[in-house]
Amino acid sequence: MEPYIILKRGKEESLKRFHPWIFSGAIAKTYGNPEEGDVVAVYTAEKEFVGRGHCQIGSITVRMLTFNDEKIDQKWWNNRLSAAYKMREMLGLTSDHSTTCYRLVHGEGDFLPGLVVDIYSKTAVIQCHSVGMFVSRKFIAEALKCIYGNALTAIYDKSSGTVPFKAGLNAEDGYLFGEEDGEPVRENGNLFAVNWIKGQKTGFFIDQRDNRELVKHYSRGRTVLNTFCYTGGFSVYALSGGALHVDSVDSSEQAVELAAENVKLNFGNDVPHNAIVRDAFEFLRDMHDRYDLIILDPPAFAKHHKALGNALQGYKRLNAMAIRQIRPRGILFTFSCSQAVSKEQFRTAVFSAAAITGRKVRILHQMTQPADHPINIYHPEGEYLKGLVLYVE
Ligand code: SAH
Repeated sequence: MEPYIILKRGKEESLKRFHPWIFSGAIAKTYGNPEEGDVVAVYTAEKEFVGRGHCQIGSITVRMLTFNDEKIDQKWWNNRLSAAYKMREMLGLTSDHSTTCYRLVHGEGDFLPGLVVDIYSKTAVIQCHSVGMFVSRKFIAEALKCIYGNALTAIYDKSSGTVPFKAGLNAEDGYLFGEEDGEPVRENGNLFAVNWIKGQKTGFFIDQRDNRELVKHYSRGRTVLNTFCYTGGFSVYALSGGALHVDSVDSSEQAVELAAENVKLNFGNDVPHNAIVRDAFEFLRDMHDRYDLIILDPPAFAKHHKALGNALQGYKRLNAMAIRQIRPRGILFTFSCSQAVSKEQFRTAVFSAAAITGRKVRILHQMTQPADHPINIYHPEGEYLKGLVLYVE
């Protein structure tokens, strides 16, 4: 008999609205001794079937996979991943020769809580954030092979840093299928070397694709500063948009090397670009009025709600430095990728920063994550990337 849980009375409300998480406090009783990562059936206090999900020890005890009475078998994985593929196909991403990297699975946004799959040309990189997804990775790899056929030559699992540490899974990163040395990918026609083995996250920040295009649009004739540059995504676009000069800053030596490598890959050696290893806060403090386009794309300052206050202070400080010193008629691209910081809170932090400087600031664009990072409307927590383009007079 499959393991199952019974909810406390009335605790099915949010599930009836398809919210995919069940918190530990909502559960009355568990039957059948499920192990972490097992699929459990979920019933209301009145014994009405709700759906099935992956169970895990922690405050989110069940991540829902389905609200139908269906088996979670290989066929199910094939169908669910194929639905994600069809959506990217509809977006034009699966056959676009100028963009060969995209996100195939964005967790709850693709009704697959705890799973991320990024495609880099012929390689899929899987990142599991839950025990359930980790123990299902063979099904996931099989489904990917089934969908892509020969178009996929390698599947790399990079979950060691993202699966819950406490579960004691001893996860090790490695190929589940094939092996690829990673030819550069294309994004809107620009080339990027992606190293999923050594790089951050799955190797590249695919989520800034649309926003990079906007940077390109505003770069002609401008002197550009790209802080927290990582692989130099924004720098490459700024140069292809005709920037006079671009400085890329990151505190990680490896990141700065990658940025320099990617600039070289696209434009060769003779290009107005400097890659600088430095703390961005320090760099911004001392930069004076050299730049008329600045990009601030820091890592998530708030990983949890407890860190919210400090995070907002951090955004305020960073933005105040940029707004104070940017040249007249300058353009500031400012982002937050902290899930715990709402759009409104981020905007308030940037507003406070502008107010300190006393400069005239207007919002030209409001940015978010691209369509291959969809937000499940029943799971608003999935909206994590927010950004503003400011015009500073
Ligand atoms: N803008 C990038 C993604 C940024 S990820 C892109 O489009 O791909 C965040 C980056 O910030 C990482 O590369 C990290 O090394 C860097 N970083 C973190 N703290 C920093 C600091 N205090 N100063 C400079 N860089 C920092």
